Amino acid sequence: MTKINIIGESRESLSAQFNQLGLPSFRVQQVWNWLYHHGVRSFDLMNNISNDVRNKLAEHYVIERPVVSNAQSSTDGTQKWLLRFEDGQEAETVHIPEVDRGTLCISSQIGCTLTCTFCHTGTQMLVRNLTASEIVGQVMMARDVFCEWPTPFSNRHISNVVLMGMGEPLYNYENVATAIKILTDEKGICLSRRKITLSTSGVVPMIERCGQELGVGLAISLHATTDELRNKLVPLNKKYPLKDLLEACRNYPNLSNARRITFEYVMLKGVNDSLADARRLVQLIKGIPAKINLIPFNPWPNSPYECSTPQAISAFAEIVYRAGYASPVRTPRGRDILAACGQLKSESLRVRRTKISLEDEKIAS
Ligand code: SAH
Ligand code: SF4
Repeated sequence: MTKINIIGESRESLSAQFNQLGLPSFRVQQVWNWLYHHGVRSFDLMNNISNDVRNKLAEHYVIERPVVSNAQSSTDGTQKWLLRFEDGQEAETVHIPEVDRGTLCISSQIGCTLTCTFCHTGTQMLVRNLTASEIVGQVMMARDVFCEWPTPFSNRHISNVVLMGMGEPLYNYENVATAIKILTDEKGICLSRRKITLSTSGVVPMIERCGQELGVGLAISLHATTDELRNKLVPLNKKYPLKDLLEACRNYPNLSNARRITFEYVMLKGVNDSLADARRLVQLIKGIPAKINLIPFNPWPNSPYECSTPQAISAFAEIVYRAGYASPVRTPRGRDILAACGQLKSESLRVRRTKISLEDEKIAS
C-alpha cells in the first residue's frame, strides 16, 4: 500500500479519510496542530495521541517535505533553494530577508505554459503543476531552515508569501487554493491572507474567483500599455486583452485604498519605458485602487532585453507618482544567484522530452 503524504491534505479531506479509518474527528485538530503549529516530522512525536493511533497514522501516512537539492546565498542575504520532489522533478523557492520580517517567493508549477519573452521560467516548458503538498511544503521547508516552529506570532523570518516564483498560479488553481487555505489556517501556519500575494500574467476568467475564494492580494503582470506590445511581451494577452484584464481588476472583490491591486511593470530599455508609456499606464488604470511596482529587468543567460537606464526608470516613476500612485521601484534582490524576479528555472524536463532526447542520443552515438 502506498502511503499518502499527509502534508497538503485539506482539513475536509483529512476528516473524511480519518472517518474511513475509524478515527474520531477531533483527531484531525490534534494532528493538524502537530503538523502545522509544531512542525513535527514524525508521528512518534505526537505525544498526546495514543500509541495505537500513532501506529495507525504511520501505517497510512508519511510526513514529507520537498528535499533541498541545492542551496545558494546571495551577497545581499537572499537565499534560493532548489527543491526536489518525490518524482525527482525540481523547482525553486527564494527567501528575501528584510529587517524584522521576510518574504518567501514560492513556485506553483515546474516550468510554465506561457512564454513571456522577458522571463527565464518561460523558456522552460511546463513539466507539471505542483501539488498542494508541494506548495505548502516550500513554506514548511523554509520554516525548518529558520527554526520557526512552533509558529511564532511576531518577528517572523517568513512574514509574507508571494506566489511569484515559477509558473502561473491561476493555471493551477485548485492546488494553489488548497495550499492557501492550509497556509492561512489560524490553528497552524497562520499566515494572514493580507500577507499573501498572488501574481498572475492575466488569466482573466480566474481573477474574480481568486478574490472571492482566496481573498489574497492580487498582483498583475502588466508590462505594457498597448495590446500590440503586450501581445509580444505577454502572449497570453492575445487571449485576454488589456480591456478584459482591466475590467476584471476593476471588479476584484473587496478592493479599497487599504487593499489595492499591484501592477507589476518590468522596465525594458527602449521597449516599454518611454514617458508616453508612463502616461498611458496611468490612464489605463484610472479609478482602480492600485500601486505600481516598477521592476528593473533582471537579465538571464542569453536574454533578449536590457534593463532601462536608472534615469528612464526615475522619469517613468515620477509620472506615475504625480498621477497619485505609489510607484516603488523594486530593488533587485539575489541577482548574483539568479534568484531575482523572472530568473528562476530548473533543469526538470517533461518526461516525454527526456525520452525523446535519450532517443536522439542513441541515434547520435
Ligand atoms: N506567472 C506569474 C507569477 C510569476 S513571475 C506572473 O507572471 O505574474 C513574477 C514577476 O516577475 C512577474 O511580474 C513577472 O512578469 C516578472 N518577471 C518575469 N521575468 C522577469 C525579469 N527577467 N525581470 C524582471 N521581472 C520579471
Ligand atoms: Fe510564466 Fe509568469 Fe514567466 Fe510569464 S512571467 S512565463 S506567466 S512565470
